Amino acid sequence: MRLTFLGTCAGTPSLQRNVTAIALTLRNTRSGGTWLFDCGEGTQHQFMRSPLKPGKLEKIFITHLHGDHIFGLPGLLTSRSMGGVAEPLTLYGPKGLRTFVETSLALSGSFVTFPMEIVEIGSGLVCDDGKVKVTAYPMNHVIECYGYRIEEHDKPGYLDGERLRADGVPRGAWYQRLKLGETVELEDGRVIDGRDYLGPPIKGKSVAIFGDTAPTPVSDLLADGVDVMVHETTLEAAMAEKANGRGHSTTVQAATAARLAGAKSLIATHFSSRYNFTDCQRLLDECRAIFPHTELARDFAEFEV
Ligand code: ZN
Repeated sequence: MRLTFLGTCAGTPSLQRNVTAIALTLRNTRSGGTWLFDCGEGTQHQFMRSPLKPGKLEKIFITHLHGDHIFGLPGLLTSRSMGGVAEPLTLYGPKGLRTFVETSLALSGSFVTFPMEIVEIGSGLVCDDGKVKVTAYPMNHVIECYGYRIEEHDKPGYLDGERLRADGVPRGAWYQRLKLGETVELEDGRVIDGRDYLGPPIKGKSVAIFGDTAPTPVSDLLADGVDVMVHETTLEAAMAEKANGRGHSTTVQAATAARLAGAKSLIATHFSSRYNFTDCQRLLDECRAIFPHTELARDFAEFEV
């Protein structure tokens, strides 16, 4: 999986950073497609400046309905349609998402020509295609807001070709079935159980993408042992009262949440527009003092998971 940050600013955009949108490119869905988490105003422009294509979008997950997280949706959807994309798209988000999308399209005389499904979610399982599972957790924000945990299912271990050769099993089409742990009968009548030749299962990767939130005990579940935790750091450590009063977190609070949840790494994002690049370095230092494996998101930054 690969994370691409298309917007890292909280509230309003700055000249250096756009409002929130995070793309997750998957290699193990049917199309190797892209999922988007939040869609702040101008996200379609950020797509144009990145290697990502709106036509590859399979799913959009909205954390909450604040404008800096959804005002880019109508434009992105209608441009995707005008671009002739016929591939279906599913939108997930809190109650009210359907009204927002349908009303903005209807009032502006707009429509989309691709199949579009809108799913209003609550806490719990959001979707599972057998390869990747997404679960939503409630955040501690001023309106209904969710964080998403994205987990690849474990894959079967590698097939030990050397041992198969040593046991005199000839190469053939049955290798594919053995790889899946199935049992095959060879032409000479021998029965081979693939499970005898598979290594240990390969652990799937996991990512937690938090919506806007003040500190919450839910983060321990949402980010439990994840490979990458993406958490907002709207304000610096000294401004905790202001941040928390508006349902946001500071650098130190995000880093502490990562440490408590046992996340392997933290990417800090969603910085107030008051901070420029130099200030952001200071924010990073505040995080790293608590949780050393912290990276800073900036617009168009990519992270392999
Ligand atoms: Zn918000």
